[in-house]
Amino acid sequence: MKKLALHWKIIIGMVLGIIWALMSSSLGWSQFTINWIDPFGTIFINLLKLIAVPLVLFSIIGGVANIGDPKSLGRMGGKTLGIYLLTTIMAIALGLLLVNVIKPGELIDEQSRIDNRISYEIWADSEGYEIKDGINYLQDPDFFERAQEISELSKSQLKEAAVADKMETVKDRKESSPLQPLVDIVPSNFFHSLSDNGLMLQIIFFAIFFGMCLLFIPSEKSLPVLNLVNGVNEVFLKMVDIVMQGAPFFVFALLAGVVSKMAGDDIGKVVEIFKGLSWYSLTVLAGLLLMIFVIYPMILKLFVKQIPYKGFFKSMSPAQTLAFSTSSSAATLPVTMECVEENLGVDKKISSFVLPIGATVNMDGTSMYQAVAVIFLAQLHMIDLTLGQQVTVVLTATLASIGSAAIPSAGLVMLIIVLSSVGLNPAWIAIIFPVDRILDMFRTVVNVTGDATVCSIIADGEDLLTYEEHDPTETFDLDS
Ligand code: ASP
Repeated sequence: MKKLALHWKIIIGMVLGIIWALMSSSLGWSQFTINWIDPFGTIFINLLKLIAVPLVLFSIIGGVANIGDPKSLGRMGGKTLGIYLLTTIMAIALGLLLVNVIKPGELIDEQSRIDNRISYEIWADSEGYEIKDGINYLQDPDFFERAQEISELSKSQLKEAAVADKMETVKDRKESSPLQPLVDIVPSNFFHSLSDNGLMLQIIFFAIFFGMCLLFIPSEKSLPVLNLVNGVNEVFLKMVDIVMQGAPFFVFALLAGVVSKMAGDDIGKVVEIFKGLSWYSLTVLAGLLLMIFVIYPMILKLFVKQIPYKGFFKSMSPAQTLAFSTSSSAATLPVTMECVEENLGVDKKISSFVLPIGATVNMDGTSMYQAVAVIFLAQLHMIDLTLGQQVTVVLTATLASIGSAAIPSAGLVMLIIVLSSVGLNPAWIAIIFPVDRILDMFRTVVNVTGDATVCSIIADGEDLLTYEEHDPTETFDLDS
């Protein structure tokens, strides 16, 4: 019998996980699922993250040293960052186009929007913001009573407690100097960086620095180091192969856990959650699916003729399905690297440098979703953002996506910065919070697909891409 390809097994695991969660929810077993099944999902993510940090370290050192000359490294580095930036801006522009055309925030009933508007005015007033778009219900005597009621209600309604900790984290960041992000990249103690998965940029910085210095010492000294680095790298890649053997089961546990936590013992709740936010969710989804199935393939067709449409998806599907189930580009990184190298045929020299940077700084899905979310929340509160404000959204969403850690829900936290940048209430993240976990799964797929696309373009430009039709059942085969 023909072996089933890994991505199919993962998809079956996901579907069974969802079915299990729905069944257990209707039988009142959600707590059982959360206590006894969900932890295996966490173990899986931990295993992948455990591999990700040392893999990034050793593969970048190896990648940089193997490139062999600092000039080509500089050229590649510039190209990588430039193309990453371009795809991010493209994603945001697409998001803005969709949200301005569909206007999901205006499809909510008029009365709720007026109430929202009043609560916004109360908040803006208390923060000392000037309201520029002409409407001002607080000045209108007809709305005075309603305004008083809403003022009481709004605090509890926004579930500020649920987002308070997230707001604190971001506040700390905002209060530091403008060059703080640059300062944060340079570690003062490298072992500290290794101990925190959120400090991936520091590890990348150290690895590039170390790899470059290897190029400058005599080869009889650098060769043993390089051999060791390459050898250790192989061990980590083998670990990925082994962990991936269990992926279908682990993914079952992950999905069962996520859905059970949302549904509790009442499946109807999931449907209710999505109903109110359906237009918003559909707009984000439309943008993300367009990126995956239209924009990236188009870019590939334009710049990398070798990789056919179907071949790209066949090659990347293990990473894409994993990104979907883990919601973390960092946890998916080891698998993304294997897919890009072994299935798309990108030379290790390129992938080991371009992909870890991409997983950390290139988040097209996240930035697009942030742009859509901000405009949606403005529409919901009857606020017209000017063109200038929308440009600010492009800038801050780009920066916020670069600053988002590659872990679940990081994009939602950074959304606070984008909202604040255009004078909107950051506590509104509570409004879209209920559907965020599911949208996170889709945007992580976009993040990972974007990294692979850019990596293929750069490899092709350097003549380091040799795509060959590949049997998907061989991906992560332990014998390969
Ligand atoms: N979960 C996303 C990632 O890891 C980040 C986010 O948008 O929350 O790529």
